[in-house]
Amino acid sequence: MLKKLFLQIASLCAVACLTSAILSAWHVNIIVGFLVGLAFQYAGYYVYKTGLLTYVALKNKKLENERIKELSYQGLEVACPCYKAVKEFIPVRLNAANYYKCSDCKKTISVLITPETAVVTEPVDTSFEAINSVLKQGVQHTYNEKEE
Ligand SMILES: [Zn+2]
Repeated sequence: MLKKLFLQIASLCAVACLTSAILSAWHVNIIVGFLVGLAFQYAGYYVYKTGLLTYVALKNKKLENERIKELSYQGLEVACPCYKAVKEFIPVRLNAANYYKCSDCKKTISVLITPETAVVTEPVDTSFEAINSVLKQGVQHTYNEKEE
């Protein structure tokens, strides 16, 4: 740790001395050249750090968006059974017990999933032709019953 710090300070001073030596060729004062070298290194480091932090923040946001998108495929909006009935969107797994912690009352809530079934109905055709054909079938059926 301490060795790394000394190495960093030494490399910082070495680059500043190199900058001072290069600038002294144009008759720039050695101290001023050294300080310019330090300032350029600091500016370079600042730009690098800012760029890196921006890149990491964008990457994290992208990952967060992907996670939310994946979660929306397997999640439910549920209301807490406490009196406030705080609604939260939680991930749901069908092969395991589902629990979450309410963000308001901090209690652990169990999510019960009960499957229900229903017959899928087909839409009724309300056109004149469809109703007329059904009525004709009814009349024919009644007529056939009377003949027998
Ligand atoms: Zn609650």
